[in-house]
Amino acid sequence: CGIVGYIGHRDAYPIIIKGLQRLEYRGYDSAGVALFDGSDINLVKTKGKVEDLNNKAKTISQKGSVGIGHTRWATHGVPNDVNSHPHYSNSGDLVIIHNGIIENYESIKKELIKRGYSFISDTDTEVLVNLIEEVKKTEEVKLGQAVQIALNQVVGAYAIAVFDRKKPDEIVVAKLGSPLAIGVGEDEFFIASDASPFIEFTNNAVYLEDEEMAIIRLGKEIKLRKIKNDAVA
Ligand code: GLU
Repeated sequence: CGIVGYIGHRDAYPIIIKGLQRLEYRGYDSAGVALFDGSDINLVKTKGKVEDLNNKAKTISQKGSVGIGHTRWATHGVPNDVNSHPHYSNSGDLVIIHNGIIENYESIKKELIKRGYSFISDTDTEVLVNLIEEVKKTEEVKLGQAVQIALNQVVGAYAIAVFDRKKPDEIVVAKLGSPLAIGVGEDEFFIASDASPFIEFTNNAVYLEDEEMAIIRLGKEIKLRKIKNDAVA
C-alpha cells in the first residue's frame, strides 16, 4: 500500500502515477487518484493495478497541480472500486487517502450515522474523513485543527493525506505506524510513503515521526505539530 501527493506548479497526475508505480513493491489490491483542476475535484479509482487506474483515468480530466494518489491493501471492506481510495466526506468537500487501520471505526460510525451521515463504502477510512468533517463543522476550526482533534479520538494506525476543495492550497498529512515523507522543493511539496516518488525532484525530505502531523501550504514553511500534545491553535 502507498501514498503519493503533490501540491505545486507541475501537473500532479504524472507525478502521482509514476510515484504509485514506484511504491508497487509495497503490495496493494486497488488504486486511485483525486486531482484539483482549479475549480473542482476529479477522482478516479479502481480495483486492480496502477496500470488499470492509468487506463481508467483517460475518462477524466487529468489537469491540476494539486492531487493525492493511493494504493490500497484492504483491511475493512473487500477490494472493489467503491472501497478504493480516495474517499470523499459527505459534503463532497474533503477528500482523503489512508494507509493503516482505524480500530474504533465502528463506534465512530454509529455516532456519525446518528448525526445524519451516510456511508457508501465499507471502509474505516470513510469514517475518518467524515469524523474530520464533523469536527470541522461543529468546532468551527480549520482543516489542520479538525484533523488533529479527530485523530485524538481515533485508535489505530495511519498515514493520511487530506485536502479541502474549498481551500486547495493546502494538504494536511499525519502519521502513526505507517510511513510518510514530505519532499520540499521550490514552491512545491511532494508527499509519499517513502522518498522514491520524489527523489528526482528534490533531495530535501522530511520524514514524519509517529504521532506527528504537518500542514503543507503553498508559499509557506511546513507546519509540523504533535498530534497528541501540542495545543490546537
Ligand atoms: N484500512 C483502509 C482500508 O481498508 C486502508 C488500507 C490500506 O492500508 O491501504 O481501506
